[in-house]
Amino acid sequence: MKKNFKFETEAIRTQTERTQFLEHSTPMYLTSSFIFEDAEDMRASFAEEKERNIYSRYSNPNSSEFIEKVCKMEGAEDGFAFASGMAAVFSTFAALLDSGDHIISSRSIFGSTHSLFTQFFPKWNVSTSYFKIDELDKLEQLLTPKTKIIYAETPTNPGVDVLDLEVLGNFAKKHNLIYIIDNCFASPYLQQPIKYGADLVIHSGTKLMDGQGRVLAGITVGSKALIDKVYRFSRITGPSLSPFNAWVLSKSLETLALRVDKHCDNALKLAEFLEGNPKVNWVKYPFLKSHPKYEVAKKQMKAGGCVVAFEVKGGVEAGQKFFNAIKMLSLSANLGDSRSIVTHPASTTHSKLSVEERLASGITDGMVRVSVGLEHIDDIIADIEQALG
Ligand SMILES: *Cc1c(COP(=O)(O)O)cnc(C)c1O
Repeated sequence: MKKNFKFETEAIRTQTERTQFLEHSTPMYLTSSFIFEDAEDMRASFAEEKERNIYSRYSNPNSSEFIEKVCKMEGAEDGFAFASGMAAVFSTFAALLDSGDHIISSRSIFGSTHSLFTQFFPKWNVSTSYFKIDELDKLEQLLTPKTKIIYAETPTNPGVDVLDLEVLGNFAKKHNLIYIIDNCFASPYLQQPIKYGADLVIHSGTKLMDGQGRVLAGITVGSKALIDKVYRFSRITGPSLSPFNAWVLSKSLETLALRVDKHCDNALKLAEFLEGNPKVNWVKYPFLKSHPKYEVAKKQMKAGGCVVAFEVKGGVEAGQKFFNAIKMLSLSANLGDSRSIVTHPASTTHSKLSVEERLASGITDGMVRVSVGLEHIDDIIADIEQALG
């Protein structure tokens, strides 16, 4: 989509056409369907001879505004908005895959995406091979004649590892694979995978995009040809985003740059505080010089993101003690919220994995994940410091 202004300006000034009331802010279009002028208008609309709204399962002005903003942010041609991040992940894969196809995916991916690949796709004869984050030089070994897609997330959850988008892009190009990135952890403000060859970019809008913990949403953007396939599948199967949530999201994007800058500022300060703390074994944050992929992070990201991972000395027991001592921060599973959130992956989100599986995705028993919010950094650090004590 054509961009006329800088990121922040497009996020604010991209807007659906005004109605006859000349409202300043975009209204909500809470309507399931749209009407036609006459029989010919209706026929031509259904024949897709004109681009217009027919039914909100297909498109709606609020969703269209949200999609247009994200396309401009990511440098994408087109997109489709979904009711949740997982609806975006599932529908995107389902639209592109045929029975017998093979996926190459990073092992460090969102839990529900891992379940989709391992518990459901095999039912439709779609198989997945995983690579570890430090095995980008061994990808060729995973190729089969049926490999169609390469998939990854960076930074990863919850280990905040960083994968080189350019290396993955070159591999995808060389082997003619569809290259898909879940860009939810970075947000389009910090990182635009299309620059490195990604064909499609997926987001859970639930995280930094909304940023205030209110709505679930998802979106896939990318090349027109691939999005058309995603659109064909989705307009039939019905995972579309509601107009109300699209309206909320489009408003949220107006402050994305401002919020994410502050998240990153706070997160870096917390990471620096933890790095010097004797009660902590290690800290991981993409923009800490000690991060193993600091140079890659610097190359492809504008700042380090909102998530900091660290390990409390003393394993699971110490981890749980730390959690019980937290006073202000929320114990919750969400991230990218204005409120800071702490989670203990080993006993919660990743408890169903075996210890080996957890270690393979970088999760140790004492590991803590903090989604650093927008409260004053002094208060965030004070709560964590007293809990460590
Ligand atoms: C949360 C998340 C998802 C799923 O999004 P939902 O909106 O919860 O369905 C997918 N990928 C990543 C990286 C996430 O953090």
